Amino acid sequence: MVHKPDGFVEYILIHYNWIFVCLFLLPISFVFDIWMYFRNWLVFKLSSAPKQHDKKVKHVQKQVRDWNNNGQKTQMCTARPGWQMMSFRRPIYKKTMYNVKVNLVDILEVDTEKQIVRVEPLVSMGQLTATLNPMGWTIPVLPEIDDLTVGGLVMGTGIESSSHKYGLFQHVCLSYELVLCDGSIIKCTSEENSDLFYSVPWSYGSLGILTAVEIKMIPAKKYVKLTYNPVRGLETIAKKFEEASKNTENEFVEALAYSEDQAVIMTGIQTDAPEYDKRLLSQTYQIVILGTSGWLVPPKVSLLKLTQTEAIKKLYENNHMIQDMLVPIETFVDSVKIFKETCNIFPVWLCPFILPSNPGMVHPKGNAERLYVDIGLYGVPNVENFDPKKSTRKIEKYAAEVNGFQMLYADTYMTREEFRRMFDHTLYDKLRTDMKCEKAFPEVYDKVSRAARY
Ligand SMILES: Cc1cc2nc3c(=O)[nH]c(=O)nc-3n(C[C@H](O)[C@H](O)[C@H](O)COP(=O)(O)OP(=O)(O)OC[C@H]3O[C@@H](n4cnc5c(N)ncnc54)[C@H](O)[C@@H]3O)c2cc1C
Repeated sequence: MVHKPDGFVEYILIHYNWIFVCLFLLPISFVFDIWMYFRNWLVFKLSSAPKQHDKKVKHVQKQVRDWNNNGQKTQMCTARPGWQMMSFRRPIYKKTMYNVKVNLVDILEVDTEKQIVRVEPLVSMGQLTATLNPMGWTIPVLPEIDDLTVGGLVMGTGIESSSHKYGLFQHVCLSYELVLCDGSIIKCTSEENSDLFYSVPWSYGSLGILTAVEIKMIPAKKYVKLTYNPVRGLETIAKKFEEASKNTENEFVEALAYSEDQAVIMTGIQTDAPEYDKRLLSQTYQIVILGTSGWLVPPKVSLLKLTQTEAIKKLYENNHMIQDMLVPIETFVDSVKIFKETCNIFPVWLCPFILPSNPGMVHPKGNAERLYVDIGLYGVPNVENFDPKKSTRKIEKYAAEVNGFQMLYADTYMTREEFRRMFDHTLYDKLRTDMKCEKAFPEVYDKVSRAARY
């Protein structure tokens, strides 16, 4: 059913969205980013964040204790509003649950000797880059969208083109500090409270409130030299992609498939000196920097969401797909074929990652680590009679059959049983019982299923 605009503003937002984005969203995003950059720079230079951290964590503890003292009436969740999250869906549960305010937005410590950065959960990837790069450091897996937060990447998941070497975002994290549902604070590492350490990733805030994370750092060079390798034929693409992913001399590997038959595999290494064709750079500079308002992009996803009308939501719902399916590399050819047959969205993003055999929700079958590939489908499906539910269920079923995983930010139509089969709940269930989480936090499924988000 086509949703009719409710008024003039909605009509403009639907039909002339680009005007709104160019004239309002881009400049607002830009000003907001500049303000945050200086605010974060000042806080880091003044070293005021570590002193404030204890105070802010005490405030989180107080809210959780109040919840206990007031009879544990409804379950708890963080108070971060849905429009600020990267996921296109907004959680319904925030409206009825006890919202815990978590104002933890700062980098706490950069220890170059131990090569560790300690951060609060609302620190964003852009903020980390702006602080660490000038010091010559970065983190091994740095998801590329600036607004993604450490908390979301730990509790959901994060991936980048270095993941073939380092794994997912959780695999470069060394410790988590959480406030548990009784109001106590706990720190966990692979040695200390290790069950919790391995259960926090993908738990979506259903074991406790995350208050700090220690992340590994690695030296960063100034430039990345990229090599673009065009490949034809699905079998050849799969073979070359796997070879590139297994070659650890490549610091970055990812690919874009433009059809079943054509892809570009991109590999990268860090360098100290720039290597480029000056003619190309000057053209790109003119087109992107001087041309339009290229230097202002991209607009903040949160602001885009804030201005999404019902009609746009419906259009997205019925005519658009955003999914990341994580499948073993051996299934590359079959996966691409099945995703094409089901939704035919191109280009497809392909990002390899190594999945260690750790305890927790997401691990390969068997005892050995395995190479996986994240197949990202973002766009308008090009098949007749696309049905969001039926089509998504088809690729969910396939992913589960090959021991794959669906990213939690995206729509899931799986039943609870199917979801529990895809994600190993053994340790998670035990911890939820031991730590008395059932009354305090909803299960992951109840936070991510299609019924829980609008
Ligand atoms: C348009 C788009 C682009 C994306 N691009 C990338 C990408 O380039 N790379 C990539 O790796 N991923 C990407 N993702 C997926 C992304 O990794 C997830 O959405 C992830 O969860 C991070 O989102 P966020 O920072 O907005 O976290 P949120 O959505 O705010 O957090 C996710 C969940 O974690 C829990 N949580 C967060 N903080 C806390 C806390 N302090 N305590 C307890 N629970 C908490 C909450 O339950 C919350 O619902 C993308 C998603 C979209 C929609």
